[in-house]
Amino acid sequence: MKLLLLGPPGSGKGTQAKRLAEVLGIPQVSTGDILREARRAGTDVGKRAAAIMDSGGLVGDDIVNDLVRERLGRDDAKKGFILDGYPRTVGQAEWLDGYLAESGRKLDVTLVLDVPDDHIVDRIVGRRTDRATGQIYHLKYNPPPAGADLVLRDDDREEVVRARLEAYQRDTAPLIDLYTRRGIVRKVSGIGSMDEVMARLKEALT
Ligand code: AMP
Repeated sequence: MKLLLLGPPGSGKGTQAKRLAEVLGIPQVSTGDILREARRAGTDVGKRAAAIMDSGGLVGDDIVNDLVRERLGRDDAKKGFILDGYPRTVGQAEWLDGYLAESGRKLDVTLVLDVPDDHIVDRIVGRRTDRATGQIYHLKYNPPPAGADLVLRDDDREEVVRARLEAYQRDTAPLIDLYTRRGIVRKVSGIGSMDEVMARLKEALT
């Protein structure tokens, strides 16, 4: 199963992608996670991406396409994968098509998490990551256990969130049309608890 999970920043996409990946036994491929890891490791790519990520803009297509080529080329991605946060531009989507076609593959399903804009800022600015485990919580919707050591991601600050939402509307939302024309889009409401949304996503896949 080769899946793409699309949705605005703050739609719960990352959390759901991790869970779905476990359920389906295929890797979650998140370019955001890969870029954050590159920053932590201090690689050239990480250094080049850092300022753009902190401003809420999009890292160049060439950089992320290279990361995806490397990640999807690994053995564990042969049986399928869930793309999370990639592709994010029409250019990336076109590159991905070409790359997958080289090995006779194509995307099977694009799940679109639908969350109205006014929910989103509220959701993102309450988001916290456990420093030790990397687990993502929300102060209101998915409260962390007492005593967890929590950090707010730099790019989850409100002004950055607004920039990321703009980037989503401008650059990424057009992908919904593109994949709709291909007949592979399934829209799911992203409102409700993590479990409710997960149940809808599973339902959409059957
Ligand atoms: P995410 O965790 O998916 O929201 O990604 C965090 C940040 O990494 C984004 O705001 C972008 O700056 C960058 N990023 C992640 N994935 C991509 C992508 N596919 N294309 C361009 N920039 C990306």
